[in-house]
Amino acid sequence: MADLAILFDASRCSACKGCQVACKCWNGLPSPTEKNVQSFTGSYQSPLDLNGDTRLIISFDEAAGDPDTQWNRVRWAFGRRSCQHCSNPACASICPSGALSVEESTGFVTVTEDKCIGCKYCSTACPFDVPRYHGKKPKINKCTGCPERVANGRTPACVQTCQPEALKFGDREEMLALGKERVAYLQAKGFKDAVLYGENELDGLHVITVAKYGLTPHGLPVDPQINPFAELVDIAKPVIALAAGATVVGLATSFLTGVGYKQPQLRYDVTTKETIDETTGTVVKVGNGQEGEE
Ligand code: SF4
Ligand code: SF4
Ligand code: SF4
Repeated sequence: MADLAILFDASRCSACKGCQVACKCWNGLPSPTEKNVQSFTGSYQSPLDLNGDTRLIISFDEAAGDPDTQWNRVRWAFGRRSCQHCSNPACASICPSGALSVEESTGFVTVTEDKCIGCKYCSTACPFDVPRYHGKKPKINKCTGCPERVANGRTPACVQTCQPEALKFGDREEMLALGKERVAYLQAKGFKDAVLYGENELDGLHVITVAKYGLTPHGLPVDPQINPFAELVDIAKPVIALAAGATVVGLATSFLTGVGYKQPQLRYDVTTKETIDETTGTVVKVGNGQEGEE
């Protein structure tokens, strides 16, 4: 099996969102106003999270910059929020219908939409809260790694469009080497928190990230964990006939829905300029990092 990877170098990303647009164009995904346009939330991130029509977003984390430095009034940290293409994908393990599978030609986790029965178990299992659904009879929609492009010698659409070369695509070992080189460069420049993500997390990801300011500002979970139930189901699959398996999985997973990792759902209060975590009610940020701008 081929072992390819996307390298996202956050320190090169200008947050132009060209990759978001390219993903939509190549995959024929709409951009309906109600899902993708919002009033100002204190952040330039848009939309606020993945949705059934959006497989990739550039996440924004705006914080106050170094006041002593004229050029650093705002510290921008951009993240690439999409499928991480796990080497041992929990989504594929738990899927009772075989709609998710590892693509031999890339090592990425691809989707056969016609097989999806809309149970949403993959959403519960995913350590990165990635799968989303569209349509009246919900069908999964997530990044596939553009296998049809790769099979024809092209790079994924998002990579192809990136002007500052913040996105690269190739042999995973080569991407890891490039990423390590870049982290060393950033640390030498004084960015002490710069770190590489994806080499060892969850036995290795096929999206490697150069996180300039450390993991959290770039939207990366520090210690991602697979829901243990997904692994149990994977072990049980060979001994359970598919139909019976689906029922067993259905009964058991219904107790677990919502247990898996979820990104915080944030709301911005325009009056107080506070960003609030809707689940816990706590204020996670005040202002948008631009206070003090003239
Ligand atoms: S196209 Fe490249 S520079 Fe633009 S937002 Fe995407 S990764 Fe960043
Ligand atoms: S990030 Fe989530 S959706 Fe993507 S391969 Fe891993 S488990 Fe599956
Ligand atoms: S690899 Fe293809 S499907 Fe995945 S985010 Fe990039 S353009 Fe979208």
